[in-house]
Amino acid sequence: MDAPYDLLIKNISTMLTCTAEGEGSLGIIKGAAIASVDGKIAWVGKESELPTEAANSAADVIDARGAVAFPGLIDSHTHLVFGGSRQDEWARKLAGVPYMQIAAEGGGINATVRATRAASEDELYERASRWLDEMLSWGVTCVEGKTGYGLDTGTELKILEVMERLDKQHAVEVIPTFMGAHDFPPEYRENREAYIRLILDEMLTAVGEQGYARFCDVFCEEGAFSPDQASRILIAAQDYGMVPRLHADQFRDSGAAELAADIGAIAADHLENMDDRNIPLLKEKDVVAGLLPICSLYLNYSYPQARKMLDAGMRVAIATDFNPGSSMCSNLPFAAQLACMQMKMRFDEAILGITRSASESLLMENKIGMLAEGLRMDIALMDIPTPEYFLYHVGRKHTWKVIKRGKVVWENSAEPVFLS
Ligand SMILES: [Zn+2]
Repeated sequence: MDAPYDLLIKNISTMLTCTAEGEGSLGIIKGAAIASVDGKIAWVGKESELPTEAANSAADVIDARGAVAFPGLIDSHTHLVFGGSRQDEWARKLAGVPYMQIAAEGGGINATVRATRAASEDELYERASRWLDEMLSWGVTCVEGKTGYGLDTGTELKILEVMERLDKQHAVEVIPTFMGAHDFPPEYRENREAYIRLILDEMLTAVGEQGYARFCDVFCEEGAFSPDQASRILIAAQDYGMVPRLHADQFRDSGAAELAADIGAIAADHLENMDDRNIPLLKEKDVVAGLLPICSLYLNYSYPQARKMLDAGMRVAIATDFNPGSSMCSNLPFAAQLACMQMKMRFDEAILGITRSASESLLMENKIGMLAEGLRMDIALMDIPTPEYFLYHVGRKHTWKVIKRGKVVWENSAEPVFLS
C-alpha cells in the first residue's frame, strides 16, 4: 500500500478538476473524492473507485456533505500592500469634484504613495494580512501582489518584504511582482528619464539582490510609461530573473499589447482599449490576457473584448485588481460574475479564468489551479447545489471550507444552506 493519506475528502457532489480528465472543459467528476499526502494530491477520482485500504487508514477525513469542490481560487492581479485609504476622495468624486482637482490637491495615487512610505513594515503587514483574510473567505488560496506604492527603492523593498512575510505566515500564498514603474513619483514628475534611470541603475539591482520578486510589471499607457520605457525596464528586469508582465492599453491603445507580444511577456493585463488587431499577435505569442472587470465597473468605463479573445483561442485570466484607487474590492467570485454578465464569458470560461488560466499567468500551473495528482491540495468547498450556482447567485458568500496544502485554513461559521 502507498503511504496513508493525511487527508481524505469524501462525499463531494461535483468536483471541478479544471483538467482534461473528467467531463467537459472543467473536467467535472460527479460523486468525487480526493486525498493528499504531505499537502499534495495523491488520489483524485470517483469515490466509488477509491482504494479501500488507503481510504480506511487516512489520518483525517472530511465529509463534504455534497459540497461542490473547486481548485483553490487564484487572484492573479492585485495591489494588496498599501498604506492609507481613499474613501474621502471617492465620496468627493461622487459629489462631482473632478479627478484632476483631487490629484492637484495631493489625492489620487500620490496619496497612497505618501501613506505607504510613511507606514511601517508591521503596519503594512497587518493591513495586508486582513485583506488576505477576506480573500481567503471567498475561496482564494493564492494571490499575486504588486509593489508600486513606494516608488523609491527603500519603500519598494519594504513592500516586497511584507509580501514575503505574508507568503510565509498567512494561509494564502503570495506571489510578488516588482512594479516600480507603476507611476512617476512626485519628485520625478519633471524629470521622468531620471526616474527610469533610478529603476534601471538602482531599484532593479536591489530588488534582484533581495530575491523575492518573480515578475516585473509596468503601467504602459499614454501619460504613464511609454512602450519604449517599459521595454527598457522589462528587458533589464529579465537579467535579475523577473518575468515580464504588463498593465496594457487600459485607457487607450498605446502599443502596450504589441510590446507584451514582442517582449515575450507571460501576461498582458487590462486590455480594455486594446485594438482587436493585436488579438492574433497575443494568441501567437501565447500571452495570457488578465482581465479586470471590477475596475471597469468601479471607474464606469469600457470592458475588455473577452469574447473576441476567447474565440481567437487566447487564454483569459480574471482577477480583482484589488487596489485603493480603481478597485477597492477583494471579491474574486464577483470578478468572475461580472465577466459573465458584462463580458459575454461563459460559466466554464470564467471559472478557468480564476483557476487554471490564472495559474498559467503566474507560471504556477505545475502546482496549483487544477485538481490532479501531484499538484497541491488547495481546495475550496462551496455550499451550492450545482457548479453554475457559484456565479449565478451574486454577492453571496458560497464558501464552506477552504483547504490549503492539505489543511483546513478557513471555515464558514454560518449554517450551510445546500449541504446535507
Ligand atoms: Zn493593476
